[in-house]
Amino acid sequence: MHQGRRIEVVGIVQGVGFRPWVYRVATQLGLQGQVRNDVSGVTVEAFGEPSALDGLVQALSSDHPPAAEIRSLRWTEIPPREAAGFVIAPSLPGTGRRVSIPADLATCPACVEEIFDPSDRRHRYPFTNCTDCGPRFTIALDAPYDRPVTSMAGFVMCDACQREYDDPLDRRFHAQPNACPRCGPRLQLLDAHGRDLKSADPLHEVAAALRAGSVVAVKGLGGYHLAVDASSPEAVRLLRERKRRDAKPFAVMVRDLREARKLATISEPEAKLLESVERPVVLLRAKRARALAPEVAPDNPLVGLMLPYTPLHHLLLADVERPLVMTSANLSDEPIVFEEAEALDRLRDIADLFLTHDRPIVTRCDDSVARVVAGAPVLLRRSRGWVPRPIPLARPVARPVLACGAQLKNTFCLAAGDVAVLGPHVGDLDQLEVHRSYEESIDRMQRFLGCRPEVIAYDLHPDYASTRYALDRPEPVKVAVQHHHAHVASAIAEHHLDGPVIGVVFDGTGYGTDGSAWGGEVLVASAGAFQRCATLRPVALAGGERAIREPWRIGLALLLDAYDGDPPGLWNFPAIPEAAGVLVRQALARGVNAPKAHGMGRLFDGVGALVLGRGTSRYEGEVALAWNLAAGAGAHGRYPFGIDSRGALLELDLRPMVRALVEEHLAGVPAGHLSAKFHDTLVHATAALVGMVRERAGGFPMVLTGGCFQNARLAEGLKAALEPEGKVYLHRQVPPGDGGIALGQVMVADATTR
Ligand SMILES: [Zn+2]
Ligand SMILES: [Zn+2]
Ligand SMILES: [Zn+2]
Repeated sequence: MHQGRRIEVVGIVQGVGFRPWVYRVATQLGLQGQVRNDVSGVTVEAFGEPSALDGLVQALSSDHPPAAEIRSLRWTEIPPREAAGFVIAPSLPGTGRRVSIPADLATCPACVEEIFDPSDRRHRYPFTNCTDCGPRFTIALDAPYDRPVTSMAGFVMCDACQREYDDPLDRRFHAQPNACPRCGPRLQLLDAHGRDLKSADPLHEVAAALRAGSVVAVKGLGGYHLAVDASSPEAVRLLRERKRRDAKPFAVMVRDLREARKLATISEPEAKLLESVERPVVLLRAKRARALAPEVAPDNPLVGLMLPYTPLHHLLLADVERPLVMTSANLSDEPIVFEEAEALDRLRDIADLFLTHDRPIVTRCDDSVARVVAGAPVLLRRSRGWVPRPIPLARPVARPVLACGAQLKNTFCLAAGDVAVLGPHVGDLDQLEVHRSYEESIDRMQRFLGCRPEVIAYDLHPDYASTRYALDRPEPVKVAVQHHHAHVASAIAEHHLDGPVIGVVFDGTGYGTDGSAWGGEVLVASAGAFQRCATLRPVALAGGERAIREPWRIGLALLLDAYDGDPPGLWNFPAIPEAAGVLVRQALARGVNAPKAHGMGRLFDGVGALVLGRGTSRYEGEVALAWNLAAGAGAHGRYPFGIDSRGALLELDLRPMVRALVEEHLAGVPAGHLSAKFHDTLVHATAALVGMVRERAGGFPMVLTGGCFQNARLAEGLKAALEPEGKVYLHRQVPPGDGGIALGQVMVADATTR
């Protein structure tokens, strides 16, 4: 008795070897019919014995290719019909597509084996890939994802490659970027002036140049990297000089996990993250190792390591035989360079050599950055490997929404139906170059998703470039979203929470509804509304924005506030320059150019400057991070604090802590001990604050969000302290910082315009 079934699979099922896998399973079960990509995922029509059909449904729901992710699987009976075997039918083009392009996938073990096998036809071929691995998002021009609409369109497959591509039993069946040395992209070695050096073995020459201390621009998956020998202080210093980058840590690529363990202490979840298909840069505790020049991450106990994710990287690292700095190729703070002409023009004075190739990068996409917090990954930058993987929403948006994100670490978010897609990391929008890349990126993602937004969400801050962009868009419906409400809503979205939550939002700065800078907040919020229940006593930022680069100004303001204008031994703090300090003190006393800010990040800046004697930050948050990382492992203790009630709003007063901490510092207690007590105090005080809010508002689930929760000690400590009271959520899919905020903007805009 023959029966027929139509099975509809929705999720990450295109470009990940799903159809060939279905083909193999169906053929083994003796079924007839077809499988094809369509606008919403993959549809299978299968005919045969009921038991075989059951077997197929069973296989689909329990087992599938490693990079696939099934979100839903539905089947219906259809009338049986005769089919000639089982086939993979051509994709159906269409509009209103909800399936995005797949994210880029790190080279799989089978492909790595081939490129190091002298008898394989792909031996040392840097563009080897298969259905389980290779470029996807960064080479896609349009959807659905098929070779003619990728940057591989210009390469005609040779007979051998075509046979693999056409053979349903081959690992490269319908692998869109399939290529080999005969028919695929090729490497090219250029000098600093862009002249072709006609190298017979560019990888080998580049490896030699790197070992000799050169700076090489290497075209990767989502853009160019600048590479130097990470074990050579001279080479790293040279790169810093040419790139005009003082102190910001560089990411380092190592050959494999074994090499990584020589440079850093690595736990099991950290090892898994390093080896994941997304291959982010993972922040790890650095070991004192001669293989790593201190200039890679000056004055920083962490190091960002990543493993090779393209065949080119694998081959290069094997040839060089040392760790390489692999930092996004750009001038400070500009977007990553991804086009050849642009690379040659903008990197001419930085790179000695260019290792490039003729497979165009369509969309720029930086490396993602992650670390393990409370036993699981937290994304600090969500980009290559994750973008454009959709984030499923608990309920569909009423109308398509474009959320424009914040100002720093910008990402945007497009949502339609029951998914939201965050764009790649764009960077800090105050740069013109960045702004152009932002607009291009939004246009392309709209095309990929076949989605025209009807609602535009943006940050309440009137001066953000993303706000101006939102207001210039033609769509009539626009929603301004308060910064910290958006942070909380992003956690609500990713954890599918329903109803109000208590959101602890600690970050640097965000625009409050009263026009002041918030950033140490406890909100009771749902997607549609929020109430500000508690905040951190504000500190004056003498000189406004300047105080962020010169945190001694914040330290001085904290001292003056804690001691009612008369702190002990003001000039005993080496971070505070005496002459400028006198002027700033006067300005603070008169309240001139000293806006008050509630940001928790600023507290870290100010206290860190005082105790560590570091008055300036060479990059945003440097001193705050140093203060966090100074905390001694075994040290514990608490300082006193106060909680004031100002009507409905509670205010956390940390002046008693500042006084006690300063006295211990002046008495010679080491910084590691003070920082540990500082963290313990924040955990304890925040838990007390949340307890009071729960009593007043209700025992809702709790979420920890905002850039300060990249701080593992704070996040883990507070999670542990709050967990006895109820469920506590950390971010797992989107960054806790401003890189994740666009998802929350989508939620708020949708909820308030339904
Ligand atoms: Zn592969
Ligand atoms: Zn070929
Ligand atoms: Zn923020």
